[in-house]
Amino acid sequence: MSNVTIKEIKTFILKPVPTNPNLIVVKVETSEPGLYGLGCATFAYRSKAVKSIVQDYFRPLLIGRRVAEIEDIWHLLQYSAYWRSGPVQQNAISGIDIALWDIKGKMAGMPVYDLLGGKCREGAVVYRYANGRDIPEMLDEFHKRLEEGNTHIRVRTGSFGGPYLPPGHFQGKEGLSYSPQRYIAELIEAMQAVRREFGNDVELLHDTHERLDPPDALRLAREMEQFRLFFLEDLLAPEQGAWYRQIRAKSITPLAMGELFVNPKEWDFLFSERLIDYIRVHITAIGGITPAKKLAVLGEAFGIKTAFHGPTDVTPIGHAANLHLDYSCHNFGIQEWAGISPIEQEIFPGCPELRGNTVYLNGKPGLGIDFDERLAAKYPPDDVSWIHRWQMRLPDGTIHTP
Ligand code: MG
Repeated sequence: MSNVTIKEIKTFILKPVPTNPNLIVVKVETSEPGLYGLGCATFAYRSKAVKSIVQDYFRPLLIGRRVAEIEDIWHLLQYSAYWRSGPVQQNAISGIDIALWDIKGKMAGMPVYDLLGGKCREGAVVYRYANGRDIPEMLDEFHKRLEEGNTHIRVRTGSFGGPYLPPGHFQGKEGLSYSPQRYIAELIEAMQAVRREFGNDVELLHDTHERLDPPDALRLAREMEQFRLFFLEDLLAPEQGAWYRQIRAKSITPLAMGELFVNPKEWDFLFSERLIDYIRVHITAIGGITPAKKLAVLGEAFGIKTAFHGPTDVTPIGHAANLHLDYSCHNFGIQEWAGISPIEQEIFPGCPELRGNTVYLNGKPGLGIDFDERLAAKYPPDDVSWIHRWQMRLPDGTIHTP
């Protein structure tokens, strides 16, 4: 079996849910009849560019190589363009990498988590969302999440301190209006309301989405101490990571960081100086299961736990990859779970399942998930509408980190 080689590589872009972004699936076919692997390469906002890297550059490099040599292939893809990193290339690498782990699991007759060291737990506890346009709407959502059995809930109200602004509001520019001071004030009110209504047993989370300048970020981290958060996420933009030294020294709020990371230089000092508590990477954006497992092991050495990114711009294949890591990493912290829609469950048979506050894999060899290409073809991509998404503007119209 070690002589099984890559025979063909295909990339699919689809959009099964109208309100969600494009998804990108990579299929690696092998010289062994019927043996193939599936990977997630979803960088929704530049999907054609990812497909071009996989099909125009990786495919000719990989046809005929042995599927068993994942580590060698990962580094070949990383170094073969001389310049490396970035979300387009790392997602393209991820599509191949996750598919090769899927193939290896199928060849071994084992779920991928067994190849990664075996199960540390029987399922992954997840956090879900309570969003609302205002506090009463958010509290209703919060109540529903509790009724469903959730124990960890991310709180958000409004659109970060301002409404969506249609074209023309800022001299012809559209976007979301964002006021940092209003946002902080509204978040404090929302957290007060949740603790008042639901008490202290439930775990609360919040995602700042890298929208604060460093002094406001420090103020928010200190204000949140009274609410005893599970974690405060992406308090700063990756470019401002060095400010975590100040925040860590002055606040006890647990910190999660990293869904925008693509390069180890963005996180190595956060680990070695123990400046964060949870690593939030989007595993396809760092290159797939291979680097994510290494990152988790590194985190274990520094007392940092995993909290892999699990939004809607991840295929069910990517969600399954997150879960195989969650099962097998001793330092698993929590898994974000945006959910998998009914149509995605049809297109991707074998999806992980949510029961109560925990998501479970099906225990089948490989990732345990399949892909119905014919059904997927009925949901073509939308390459236009989502490129407008991230336009956050300050009250004076200045564009801001998304
Ligand atoms: Mg986030």
